[in-house]
Amino acid sequence: MPRINEAELQHLKQAVSLVALAQQQGRVLIKQGKELMTLCPFHDEKTPSMALSPEKNLYHCFGCGESGSVLDWLIKTEKISLHKAYQRLCAEVGQVPQLAPLPPVASVEEPAGRQALLQQVLALYQQTLFSSTEAQHYLQQRGLADAELVAHFQLGFANRTLGYRLPARKTREGVKMRQQLQQLGLTRGSGHEHFTGSLVIPVVGANGEIGQIYGRKIYPAENYRPGTPLHLYLSGRHQGVFNEVALLQHKTVVLCESLIVGCRGALCHGSLWRQWCHRRSLALFCRQRCQAGVDRL
Ligand SMILES: [Zn+2]
Repeated sequence: MPRINEAELQHLKQAVSLVALAQQQGRVLIKQGKELMTLCPFHDEKTPSMALSPEKNLYHCFGCGESGSVLDWLIKTEKISLHKAYQRLCAEVGQVPQLAPLPPVASVEEPAGRQALLQQVLALYQQTLFSSTEAQHYLQQRGLADAELVAHFQLGFANRTLGYRLPARKTREGVKMRQQLQQLGLTRGSGHEHFTGSLVIPVVGANGEIGQIYGRKIYPAENYRPGTPLHLYLSGRHQGVFNEVALLQHKTVVLCESLIVGCRGALCHGSLWRQWCHRRSLALFCRQRCQAGVDRL
């Protein structure tokens, strides 16, 4: 049996429509807002509580809690192996177009080109987050499993599939784009993605510009080789204020050390603090190691 390529698998999870598959299986789908409801195949019920999201290509049952990707759906509803499901999805994808490669930018030396490429990669990471069961599980663990929060903070997940969405390696565009990604620090000299296996959180300024990107490995330290950093950033200075918009909207701000805590309604440290703090009352969020952040003020 040939080894399943992880990048290919991720592509299939996005490319094959869960809704189309459920229809092929003869399930009755009822539109409800952005989702389609159907009777849950995993528990007995008379009223549909299984929601299929065409946008995210994921399912979630409000009755029994089952959730996952189109791949999980196929394995569980048809009781087939991962390899069989993989072959089925490959056959399906033959009928739908391949995902288009990311469009190249003229130059990343200029801020506009740099921002455009960062935005493209972050958009890809956001798609990956939706289709990754393990990343969704991590969001739940960290109290971040909220669609509005994920969209607002543009959270994403890097899982080594970026290369799959680039122009072919041997083409001029492909070579150029790989160089640009390396220049931005999104890939390393080896070509590997810098944020592989990490939840990705961009630090976006009030003007919409991406100042920095933070990555947090989603598994505990013991899952990695000793010394593997669990917290990653793009190279260069750690600067900017996370959730800067909140500074404009609230009289009391909460300082915390971690961007992940920041996503749950707090605000992270940064260079703009000094100019803001004299006008606002400041609450310190001390549940985690925020002293590091306080020391930087
Ligand atoms: Zn169910």
